[in-house]
Amino acid sequence: NDPSRSPLLEVKGNIELKRPRIKAPSRLPLSGSRLKRRPDQMEDGLEPEKKRTRGLGATTKITTSHPRVPSLTTVPQTQGQTTAQKVSKKTGPRCSTAIATGLKNQKPVPAVPVQKPGTSAVPPMAGGKKPSKRPAWDLKGQLCDLNAELKRCRERTQTLDQENQQLQDQLRDAQQQAKALGTERRTLEGHLAKVQAQAEQSQQELKNLRACVLELEERLSTQEGLVQELQKKQVELQEERRGLTSQLEEKERRLQTSEVALSSSRAEVASLWQETAAQAALLAEREERLHGLEMERRRLHNQLQELKGNIRVFCRVRPVLPGEPTPPPGLLLFPSGPGGPSDPPTRLSLSRSDERRGTLSGALAPPTRHDFSFDRVFPPGSGQDEVFEEIAMLVQSALDGYPVCIFAYGQTGSGKTFTMEGGPGGDPQLEGLIPRALRHLFSVAQELSGQGWTYSFVASYVEIYNETVRDLLATGTRKGQGGECEIRRAGPGSEELTVTNARYVPVSCEKEVEALLHLARQNRAVARTAQNERSSRSHSVFQLQISGEHSSRGLQCGASLSLVDLAGSERLDPGLALGPGERERLRETQAINSSLSTLGLVIMALSNKESHVPYRNSKLTYLLQNSLGGSAKMLMFVNISPLEENVSESLNSLRFASKVNQCVIGTAQANRK
Ligand code: ADP
Ligand code: MG
Repeated sequence: NDPSRSPLLEVKGNIELKRPRIKAPSRLPLSGSRLKRRPDQMEDGLEPEKKRTRGLGATTKITTSHPRVPSLTTVPQTQGQTTAQKVSKKTGPRCSTAIATGLKNQKPVPAVPVQKPGTSAVPPMAGGKKPSKRPAWDLKGQLCDLNAELKRCRERTQTLDQENQQLQDQLRDAQQQAKALGTERRTLEGHLAKVQAQAEQSQQELKNLRACVLELEERLSTQEGLVQELQKKQVELQEERRGLTSQLEEKERRLQTSEVALSSSRAEVASLWQETAAQAALLAEREERLHGLEMERRRLHNQLQELKGNIRVFCRVRPVLPGEPTPPPGLLLFPSGPGGPSDPPTRLSLSRSDERRGTLSGALAPPTRHDFSFDRVFPPGSGQDEVFEEIAMLVQSALDGYPVCIFAYGQTGSGKTFTMEGGPGGDPQLEGLIPRALRHLFSVAQELSGQGWTYSFVASYVEIYNETVRDLLATGTRKGQGGECEIRRAGPGSEELTVTNARYVPVSCEKEVEALLHLARQNRAVARTAQNERSSRSHSVFQLQISGEHSSRGLQCGASLSLVDLAGSERLDPGLALGPGERERLRETQAINSSLSTLGLVIMALSNKESHVPYRNSKLTYLLQNSLGGSAKMLMFVNISPLEENVSESLNSLRFASKVNQCVIGTAQANRK
């Protein structure tokens, strides 16, 4: 016998020794494991520590539910069971485990490995004082011991039962708890799933929101840029607005000032209006009177011109030029008129010694004196201004509507061109009749514009050589050539004549006239190279068409002013031999003489009021037909050379001029349309 063996086990062993081995119908671990598996959630859900504890508890329970208490005692089954339960309750799990193990294994198990140190609820068999081993003979003592032992066992069984009951209660609680927890877990899992789904959704949303945020941030930055720009603009605009406001204020101030000024001005204007109306009435009245006076002036002016004669002849003697032989004294004399030397000279005497007569008598005969009287005589010292003064009134008649024609007649070199156009070098003192007449017309027209008259002037300048007409104002390729020009009527049934291919240039100032005269001189110069001294062999006709209009009174007047530099009137010496050059010269001279005599005949016919006036006999008279006769006024300058060698020609000129001077062309009528 092992002393370390527990007395109980020893007893058991003893019992086992006495009893046959019974095979357990069921094994505890199996039923235990079956029980254990029943609340499967508990096993999974609980912590390992708890599991361990429960597993122990379950084992205990199995022990009680299947009491396999061997019939050790004589106690009846039911009583024994109760006792065992009581003992179990009293002793606690350790003891029952020991029993169960012992029962299960059906063999003695060492008490030490089963019993854990410090957990032993089983008091030592002998309560510290181990009963000394009773001698084998002391059966009674042994029985007593056993009884005590049994009693203790019963108590322990009771304890264990109680404990078992507690554990079962605990188990139930735990199971209920587990069940509740399971339910809770399912609920939580459901929640979890929901929460997870929500989380996923939230994450998706978050992602979307992040993208959104990014986009919004981007937009924000753009908007911020815009805002900054707008702010800058706003600042600028505010600045501008301030400027404008100040401007506006300034303008308003000015406006107020202006309004004040305006109202005072209005009052002034009203009074001025009244004054103006009064003055306008006065002006109209005066204008009416002025017009009446102007008409009266024109009438009287014309009467005066008529009294002076519609055909007037002025004689002009040019001075002796440097280098020319001094003429003998008394060759030309200018006797004073009836009014004495204060009167303008009108008479001229030319003394000529008849050479033939002198030869025949053998002694020098006294010179023959030829006296001439003209409307006016200009001795050599007379200036251009003096000459013009005499004709200014006549020129003005052209503005009043009477055709005016001024001729320069005389031999070559007698001063015709000098009289008409002027001297060389553009000296204003030497300006001829043409520039002076035009200047005068322009200034009078300007004066008359104040009375409501509007005048326009158109100039033309042609040359008639050998009965052909050439334009002296031709420009460009026609310059100097002067393509064929013809004198035609301006229109069918029209009295007006026009030169085809000739330029008619509107003029309104002196400068323009100067330019035209310059152009004419150039054209003549070009022609001169082709044919020597052609200018003196041709007639130059400067014509100015004047048209005036008084629109408010519906009055119109028009007339032409013609200024003609005639060809040299000298005749060819009949005794000259006729070479080819002379023949040409003769033809020219015949043409000139013919046209000059035609001019004389026309004047004569007009003077005699003949039914036929031979205008058509020369181009010159044909061109000038509207400026001769009728209401026309004519003036002829007879230019005389002061030289002795030209006496014969001078005499011829003076005779021609005298004939013209004897003519009186009927009373002129103004060309009123
Ligand atoms: P015409 O045209 O009759 O042939 P010009 O007019 O050419 O003659 O005159 C011939 C010259 O006499 C020119 O040199 C001109 O300057 C000069 N002459 C003519 N008349 C005068 C005058 N009144 N005073 C000064 N010189 C004159
Ligand atoms: Mg000339």
